[in-house]
Amino acid sequence: MSSPWEVVIGLEIHAQLATVSKIFSGASTAYGAEPNTQACLIDLGYPGVLPVLNEEAVRMACKFGLSVNATVARRSVFARKNYFYPDLPKGYQISQYELPIVENGELMITGGDGNQKRIGITRAHLEEDAGKSIHEGFGRSSGIDLNRAGTPLLEIVSEPDLRSAKEAIDYMRKIHTIVRYLGISDGNMQEGSFRCDANVSIRPSGESELGTRTEIKNLNSFRFVEKAINFEIERQIELIEDGGKVVQETRLYDSDRDETRSMRSKEEANDYRYFPDPDLLPIEIDDDYVEAVRATLPELPDAKQRRFVADYGLRQEDAGILVGTRAVADYFEAAAVATGAGAQIVANWVLGDLSAALNRDGLDIDGSRISPARLAGLLDRIDDNTISGKIAKEVFEALWAGEGTADEIIDKKGLRQITDAAAIEAVVDEIIAANPTQVADYQSGKDKLIGFFVGQVMKATGGKANPGQVNAILKDKLGSA
Ligand code: ADP
Ligand code: MG
Repeated sequence: MSSPWEVVIGLEIHAQLATVSKIFSGASTAYGAEPNTQACLIDLGYPGVLPVLNEEAVRMACKFGLSVNATVARRSVFARKNYFYPDLPKGYQISQYELPIVENGELMITGGDGNQKRIGITRAHLEEDAGKSIHEGFGRSSGIDLNRAGTPLLEIVSEPDLRSAKEAIDYMRKIHTIVRYLGISDGNMQEGSFRCDANVSIRPSGESELGTRTEIKNLNSFRFVEKAINFEIERQIELIEDGGKVVQETRLYDSDRDETRSMRSKEEANDYRYFPDPDLLPIEIDDDYVEAVRATLPELPDAKQRRFVADYGLRQEDAGILVGTRAVADYFEAAAVATGAGAQIVANWVLGDLSAALNRDGLDIDGSRISPARLAGLLDRIDDNTISGKIAKEVFEALWAGEGTADEIIDKKGLRQITDAAAIEAVVDEIIAANPTQVADYQSGKDKLIGFFVGQVMKATGGKANPGQVNAILKDKLGSA
């Protein structure tokens, strides 16, 4: 049954830009310092100081714009967004309003129906982050930490094109992957370097006008985005079906209770008294600048996925997972070109045993204890029948433990597969001689007993007999079941 309600979602994603210093001052942006040790006079909002724009932030915004097929404005303007809050000592946030640096971009996601779907990116603008209020450990007072004040952010605003929590997550993941590919944000969500506000409304299916939306602030995990949106959809549907009305407001998601709560009624743009910041010149960039930035763009995830499918014959879905992290894609590719075993086999191992080992030890791919070359060495030995798939798991563990190359491990541990037919036959003869009852049962029709015999031969050979040969020789010697 199709729902009588259509869900409409637009995301405002804040990506902290990975500059060394702040957007308008020379203070460090490093995370985790003692409170207020990385806030200079500009970040503290002292009178008489002047902001100086960090060109690196501009370059990063430009990179992003080009990656989502957007227009990079040749002229954009910083504006003051005025509001009072204790963690904002100047009384205004420097942002961009009427003339943002990036406009009219787009991104493809996999829509609810499984087809590719275009999501419009309205704009992306540069702004500074505020400080942090700390409510614990100060009794009835609050502490203020201004280390984060002035940290560069890129706010990426989508069109209201998303139709479910799943699509929203898909879109957000893609943006997350892109900023990390570009190296313009570390994307660390626990540290708040990548977070989003979700705007959610519903309307009767088929209706073209937008419903009244609420905005859920500051979601810093994919799971919370999904849960908060789904809660909010249910809340709005119930409210309207009970004869009520959605109020335009800002809400907070409480992950402990899995619900959203009203925080304040939604402010309008004119509450902020935006005006161009007289302390900063407009950002003016020319075509040469934009082309120079374009030349530095890496291969992006979608293009890489297409190439992995076309050049390596990978399954679409596997290629999609591999390109999700640039370092994983690079690892795969390094191993794939180094082995003759076939790229899909490499993908299976990277997504299977290698991922499992990394997870188990809490490592990411850069911390892998097996290099791409060593994994390739292992796969080559499976491919040329030196070892069986089962023994390969044992070699993999030894590789992980740093015991040498696959060849060294196979030699040292004597794991080479037995493919000498005479040697296998000798073992088969012994097993047959030692189990007359089972032989009689097998020959009178209990053909499932073949598994028993295979097991005995494998046991006797320490798992090293070639399984295909064992089967064939057993069937030949036992006669028909
Ligand atoms: P504001 O300036 O108040 O934040 P914007 O018009 O810039 O509002 O929109 C912010 C975000 O809200 C955008 O991502 C936009 O797509 C989304 N949005 C706007 N209207 C709706 C709506 N009715 N339902 C869902 N999302 C919406
Ligand atoms: Mg907003």
